[in-house]
Amino acid sequence: MRRWLALAMALAMAMLIGCAAAEAPEESDGLSIEEVGGEEAEWLFPVAIEDLDPAFLPLANKHYLLEKDYVCSPLVTMKAAKYNKDGSRKSGNMLMAVSSKMKLNETCAEALTALSDGARADGYKLYLKSAYRSWQTQNTMYKNRLKKNKGKDDGWVSKAGASDHQTGLGCDVIPRSWIKASGMNSKMASEPECVWMEEHCAEYGFIIRYPKDKEEITEIHYEPWHLRYVGIPAAKYIMENGLCLEEFTEQLQAAIEFYLAGGGDPAKVEKLIQVPTEEAES
Ligand SMILES: [Zn+2]
Repeated sequence: MRRWLALAMALAMAMLIGCAAAEAPEESDGLSIEEVGGEEAEWLFPVAIEDLDPAFLPLANKHYLLEKDYVCSPLVTMKAAKYNKDGSRKSGNMLMAVSSKMKLNETCAEALTALSDGARADGYKLYLKSAYRSWQTQNTMYKNRLKKNKGKDDGWVSKAGASDHQTGLGCDVIPRSWIKASGMNSKMASEPECVWMEEHCAEYGFIIRYPKDKEEITEIHYEPWHLRYVGIPAAKYIMENGLCLEEFTEQLQAAIEFYLAGGGDPAKVEKLIQVPTEEAES
């Protein structure tokens, strides 16, 4: 039902933008800008502008490549948490970490710590498997994967600039039982820890970045372990409506276009504007 609502809204928005963009608005048989927007430019997106932090919303994929030196700073080093006997946190800013030297954006790290404590309170221990990766690291990983697959991109490792891990806001969080597994796959989704994450991640500002039924859109296999920080209001909207970040971005960009066409203040939305790499370069 909610998914329907979101779809209907996206369609309505697209139609309105179509009308607003038409050449002679006064004479067109659709709605003119004045009739739609009136004096005040309308913000039709279900999440308020002030609840959207552009720093946490960058889309990274094959079509939206990140610059080589891009990262959502500041990054902080993740430290494995130690707990007291009564279950309270003794030290560390994080859930249990699989390896040292992992970094995440500071806000994301704090949110992940809260998520980990929430999971722990419900009886689940979460482990951080992978966090920030630089453009260079991703480039090496991608090339190694291609070599292993005789030059074929199998959709498991993103190319440099296209990885959510480069944002510093994406991380792989896994159950203890998978720490020693040689690879990760969708079977992990049935682990109670992953069921818990899917259900509660939005409360802490996270989304499942690569959902099960969105593989055609994300062009990435279902990854029940990959969490992405976007902030609580955006995360709730995305998870409640069963969206992936690509769909969210598309809806948001349509809303921005509509807002601007209706005379909205560009300063309020300019940082939220995202353009595909191909368009930005042409
Ligand atoms: Zn990942």
